[in-house]
Amino acid sequence: MKSISFLVAGALSVALAADVALAQTGKPGIERLYIIDCGTSVGPDKSRWTPGVDVGKPLDMVGNCYLIRHARGLMLWDTGVSDDVASMPNGRPGQGGSPHWRRSTTLAAEIAKLGLTHSDIKYLAVSHTHPDHIGNVELFPQAMLLVQRAEYDWPAPSGPRFNPTHPVTKLDGDHDVFGDGSVMIVSTPGHTPGHQTLLVKLPKFGAVLLTGDAVHIQESFEKRYVPANNVDREKTLASYQRIADLLVEHKAQLWINHDALQRARLKLSPENYE
Ligand SMILES: [Zn+2]
Repeated sequence: MKSISFLVAGALSVALAADVALAQTGKPGIERLYIIDCGTSVGPDKSRWTPGVDVGKPLDMVGNCYLIRHARGLMLWDTGVSDDVASMPNGRPGQGGSPHWRRSTTLAAEIAKLGLTHSDIKYLAVSHTHPDHIGNVELFPQAMLLVQRAEYDWPAPSGPRFNPTHPVTKLDGDHDVFGDGSVMIVSTPGHTPGHQTLLVKLPKFGAVLLTGDAVHIQESFEKRYVPANNVDREKTLASYQRIADLLVEHKAQLWINHDALQRARLKLSPENYE
């Protein structure tokens, strides 16, 4: 008992020291970002994402999860398709034109490779509630879920979108996660009612905008394609414009969750960006 309270006191003093350091320097506490492989997929018909163009052609895609290390805690952004896909020899076929997913590794294993366990994750935010983004939310039952109220309350055909017992902060728009402007949730509705993207201002690398599915591939962004599986066309187009404005304002790079060509050029965990 004594050693446990000592450990808790030790952890608290480390956390407090980090807060004091932040207050004294005025510098944001963000440290680094990891891109985690959360699967690969093939869409059977690319024109699902590029209406009228490349009809019937397959589209190679990927799924990313992102881990952000900040002095005030770890945050996970998106969780990919569920880890059990990794144990399916042929992956999980899609339904109704959705992609066929495969996983060569699990999110749990990738977190463990960094010397972390699920309980180290303080905040968990998802861009939206399609299955290829929320597949592993319950691997982190204690993590504070940061989700737009419009997404949380969006009626689903089969029960609630999240476990009702999972701790949650329901957002009504933009949100500064750590209070220092280094990690900002940005409301980008349209693909789903409460879709959100993440602006991360890394200390050396600079700003990156993690799109979720507000953008599916680079071509979607350039041509402003509204995909077939989409809730509100006008809001989707407005969110494209908001993203374009943010990229200019913050001199940010656009990191597109499902863009396979882009991921091939980026470093995957355990390598990272500072
Ligand atoms: Zn997706």
